[in-house]
Amino acid sequence: MYIKKKERELFKLIDDKLKIPSKWIKFVDKQRVHHNLIIKKKNEYICTNCKHIFHSDKKVNEECKCPNCKNTYLVKSDRLKDYTFKDQLAIFDKVDNYYIERIFQLESHYHNGYINYYCFEWGRNIYDKYFSCMFQIMNDNTVGTTSGYWISYRENFNSNWKYTNSYYSPIAYYDEFIYYPYNLKKLLKNDSDYKYSQLWELVKHVDYCNLTYLLKNYNQSIEFLTKLKLYRLALNPKTFLFKNTFEERFLGLSKDYIPFIRKYNLSLNELEVLSVLKEKNINLIRMISKLDNFKNLSSLINFKKAFELTDLNSENCVEYNDYLTMIKTMKFDMKNPKYIYPKNIKEAHDKIEKEYEIVKDNLICEAIKNRGNELSKYTFNNSKYIIFPADSIESLEDESKQQHNCVRTYSERIAKGSCDIYFMRLVSDREHSLVTVEVRNNEVVQKRTKNNQSTTAEQDKFLDLWERKILKG
Ligand SMILES: [Zn+2]
Repeated sequence: MYIKKKERELFKLIDDKLKIPSKWIKFVDKQRVHHNLIIKKKNEYICTNCKHIFHSDKKVNEECKCPNCKNTYLVKSDRLKDYTFKDQLAIFDKVDNYYIERIFQLESHYHNGYINYYCFEWGRNIYDKYFSCMFQIMNDNTVGTTSGYWISYRENFNSNWKYTNSYYSPIAYYDEFIYYPYNLKKLLKNDSDYKYSQLWELVKHVDYCNLTYLLKNYNQSIEFLTKLKLYRLALNPKTFLFKNTFEERFLGLSKDYIPFIRKYNLSLNELEVLSVLKEKNINLIRMISKLDNFKNLSSLINFKKAFELTDLNSENCVEYNDYLTMIKTMKFDMKNPKYIYPKNIKEAHDKIEKEYEIVKDNLICEAIKNRGNELSKYTFNNSKYIIFPADSIESLEDESKQQHNCVRTYSERIAKGSCDIYFMRLVSDREHSLVTVEVRNNEVVQKRTKNNQSTTAEQDKFLDLWERKILKG
């Protein structure tokens, strides 16, 4: 994309004035420590960070704490050839009236027992003094190809900053970074709005965050929560504003929970789980907070009762979620404790899963039959062709077999009403497949003859007429 001369000069000015801050290398080294593994060689475990050799009973792909350097890493087998870690780091800086976010990729490669790393700048976001983004620019460390962009280190690139206007470019994709924290206090203390903000402390204690979002939406809840050392909660300024009493702020939790929330640096999501569970069990909280429909789940059951009556733990939590979703779809009485609090979750889940598969098929069968009846009013013919809706699973299976296409797999979508399937055939030979037609919102979106071939001009003419006169008419 063409860059105006004025803007090119601005990018150059910024480039000339920016400096790498003094503790940058120290900061990168600190992040790099996370890019390590524990390599399991028979019964020996080797930490790639400190080279310490020890014994453990952890399995491959489990996390394990090195007894020497005390860091926790993933266990991998010594047969592993390559492994790559990537993190996006950022320096937030200011030149004249512009704020700049300098984006660096920290990349570490494990190869046959050794780790090499690169850290290189590849993108910049340029903001005005209100933190509105004015320019997103990238340098030659990003390579655009037809299949997308790659960020990779180039040995001798010339720092030629260029615009990106693609929605798919990486710079539009990333909005959270691990920020270099040591320059922020100096940068923000002259601004009366952020003088007491504590943002420099906050950034130090969380890994990824969106600093410009925090600056743009800044309010006192950030300062308040950061001072309480509830760092990950402080990342949600909109949630904690305008809430006065302690319990209101913390979703009904009393002050007694603060040490626990602080100890595990709970996120907002985890706090919501804690407020329902009222159990200081961090493994379970982390597990449940990852469930898609935790809120739905907590409306179905009482977690306290679930702990008393079932064998709920961090391992069978996902199955319990599945189980409840299934019995709800099957219209079980969701007030009956016998159903919603099974003694043995795994057993109950496996039993209901079998029944569910049968019922599910029946539900789909019925829905397709009903839909076929509804659509029969769109049946249409001339002297040569006829078109009519699929009215059963069997008819879809038959069409698939004859046409060698995948229309069978459409059954669940037809049942949900997200698409319709019609069969177009010869009036003289109605049993024999000719064209499979997919319709959405009364519009033909796909028409295929045998082996997914295209339709003829004559067939198209018939379908056009049908679509215009009957479907839309
Ligand atoms: Zn170690």
